[in-house]
Amino acid sequence: MISIKQIWENILIEIQAKVTALAYDSWITDLKPICIHNDSIVLICESKAKKSVVENRYSDIICESCKKILPNLSGVLFILPEEKEHFEQINEEPIDNVNSENIIIGEENNLFSPKCTFGNFIIGKSNEFAAAASKAVAQNPGIKYNPLFIYGGVGLGKTHLLNAIGNHIKKTKPKLKCLYTSCERFTNELIEALRGSRYNDEMKEFRKKYRSLDCLMIDDIQFISKTVSTQEELFHTFNDLYYQDKQIIICSDRPPQEIVPLEERLRTRFQGGVVADIVAPDLETRIAILQSEALTEKQNIDDEILKLIANKVPTNIREMKGVLTKIICFAQLTDKNVNDMDLINSALKEYNEDKAEIVDIDKIVDCVCRYYPNVTKADLIGKKKNKEIIEPRQMCVYLVTEFLSMPLLAIGQYFGGRDHTTIMYTRDKIAHLSQTEPKISAQIKDIKAMILGK
Ligand code: ADP
Ligand code: MG
Repeated sequence: MISIKQIWENILIEIQAKVTALAYDSWITDLKPICIHNDSIVLICESKAKKSVVENRYSDIICESCKKILPNLSGVLFILPEEKEHFEQINEEPIDNVNSENIIIGEENNLFSPKCTFGNFIIGKSNEFAAAASKAVAQNPGIKYNPLFIYGGVGLGKTHLLNAIGNHIKKTKPKLKCLYTSCERFTNELIEALRGSRYNDEMKEFRKKYRSLDCLMIDDIQFISKTVSTQEELFHTFNDLYYQDKQIIICSDRPPQEIVPLEERLRTRFQGGVVADIVAPDLETRIAILQSEALTEKQNIDDEILKLIANKVPTNIREMKGVLTKIICFAQLTDKNVNDMDLINSALKEYNEDKAEIVDIDKIVDCVCRYYPNVTKADLIGKKKNKEIIEPRQMCVYLVTEFLSMPLLAIGQYFGGRDHTTIMYTRDKIAHLSQTEPKISAQIKDIKAMILGK
């Protein structure tokens, strides 16, 4: 059964889209859902003053948003904390008639995004290990690959895989309790529970929720808060589940060793299972993803056009899919064929404009940083010598020598005062690797495409 909290979280997403950030933070975030009573959702307001503002200014928006998720709802009832008791006895009215289409990602009891399955996850070299490990986990949660740690840049399919695992488990082992949560949400809930003794044993509830799971997925763990209590709670949650052979899956935009600050004992735990990375997909995979998307959208788009799009956006699948969606929308709005070249060109305009830009050293550095999302310009021109930075730095130096006819001395100066022989050595090393290592040559190709805005 869907809980009132899950419903409310989805309603909040709707409200967020309709009010300003300030209004949302000031008036909406503190509201606490209690139950549904007489077709109204009952919300606690912290104080009389807040209640009057929310009632007067936001009740229509809240009501409207609620109806998106619960179409049969007739109203909203705002109460004060001291009135809560009256509603506790009637707490358990079942929540039905939920508009599941509008629920994006749910919590307990398996509300995963139906759009993200293994069936529509295209596998290429860039993600094959992560996909295989995810499938193994989905088939046998808690058995072999525990924990599973997936990392990779933005828009490369990590959250898709989490949802695919959730959907698979839900279908094949419906009794298992799976929960997808973001690191941020985990932390917020924890903070709320820690400070929330006002509303009865919230901490107990928090622990019960997380430690009774069969599969816990935490997305974007790089946002883990520094605070001792969060890391401590996560560590205990982890241990509790792990020693009961419950599955833990964690996603991040960087490998465990680069998550700062992360307590060493948590880092060791994350590294103790399977660590799988996802990198930017090669051209074939990108085209295959677009083909699959076009098929889903029932659009007959020429492969040449798909290739054109795949070439324009090499490092972020979300962005690439966005371009395709834009083309389809343009076509529908202007009543044109999706393969109309004028239409394609205008949809790709911002990507074409890049091309006219002059390539300079900043542009190259910028593209290298976009390609390796964990690396900053300061890293590239700085002194750090860890592998995660040396590789992008060498790549960057090589690309500068390829694109610009700058003297090696000047390049050395730009890259933190390095010697010109170091620059020469780096250039030759990468040039050699580009001949012998297909992975390196593919990376060079992709970054070059970004630099040229292809
Ligand atoms: P991340 O969590 O890594 O930032 P997402 O999982 O949100 O990325 O993926 C971004 C978008 O790209 C989603 O729409 C997702 O469905 C799609 N996507 C990513 N990888 C693939 C893939 N291999 N095949 C099909 N779609 C993909
Ligand atoms: Mg994600």
